[in-house]
Amino acid sequence: LIEMDHIHKRFGSLEVLKDCTMHVEEGEVVSIIGPSGSGKSTFLRCLCNLEIIDGGTIIVGGDVMTRQPQGVNRSIYAPSSQVHKICLRMGMCFQHFNLFPHMTVLDNILEAPRVVQGKKTEEIMPIAEALLKKVGLWDKCNVYPSRLSGGQKQRVAIARALAMNPDIMLFDEPTSALDPELTGEVLRTIKQLADDNMTMIIVTHEMAFAKEVSKRILFMAEGIIEEEGTPEQIFEHPKSARTKNFLKSML
Ligand code: ATP
Ligand code: MG
Repeated sequence: LIEMDHIHKRFGSLEVLKDCTMHVEEGEVVSIIGPSGSGKSTFLRCLCNLEIIDGGTIIVGGDVMTRQPQGVNRSIYAPSSQVHKICLRMGMCFQHFNLFPHMTVLDNILEAPRVVQGKKTEEIMPIAEALLKKVGLWDKCNVYPSRLSGGQKQRVAIARALAMNPDIMLFDEPTSALDPELTGEVLRTIKQLADDNMTMIIVTHEMAFAKEVSKRILFMAEGIIEEEGTPEQIFEHPKSARTKNFLKSML
């Protein structure tokens, strides 16, 4: 479903991604782990078009979504309308939930389907209700985000992303801004999505969770995908010394 091949990305003179390749199949859950600053967030942001890559290709569901770098004019690049369309197939949840503070929980869910997909409120209400029930927050539908706990906010953010009916969900440290006692409820919500066969890429520091939920783990270090494998391969039998050291430091 997702093919990111030989991705290069630099910020000025800093080479943040050095030839990173990742393929994700439909229904697969892949977690990306690695030290701070290794490029995990940047890699995810390249996939959802929040960063423009300097080299490599990105193909989602068979459609090329590589944006044209400045000054290059070749037909292998996708027009921006196509890139935009592909992005709508991806839901994103970040560390900071970025809910619309001036809207109720329900309106946060309804906003994108109304504005981006042009759907009528009646049409999406049943979906919004089902999603809020799924994340256990239907009773909070008329509340403003400022009245929610961090864990509740993050669950609303997940429901909001799901309201766009994405094929792929991307998570960047969805629990790292939360108090430990609130991470469980968010991780359970993500686990539910995995059980429903949602294709997901999850950047996380929660090793136990990554192990439980993922089919595959990528270990990233200094802009390189240093090692990848099943949770068992990575956690029980890491090959690279860097992976071993990182896992030791996470205990
Ligand atoms: P963490 O675990 O702390 O979130 P990360 O693996 O997600 O780290 P990135 O956020 O991808 O790391 O950052 C990789 C490198 O790129 C870092 O050195 C960071 O300082 C740099 N970087 C990220 N975004 C930018 C930017 N917009 N401009 C310049 N440098 C950036
Ligand atoms: Mg990050």
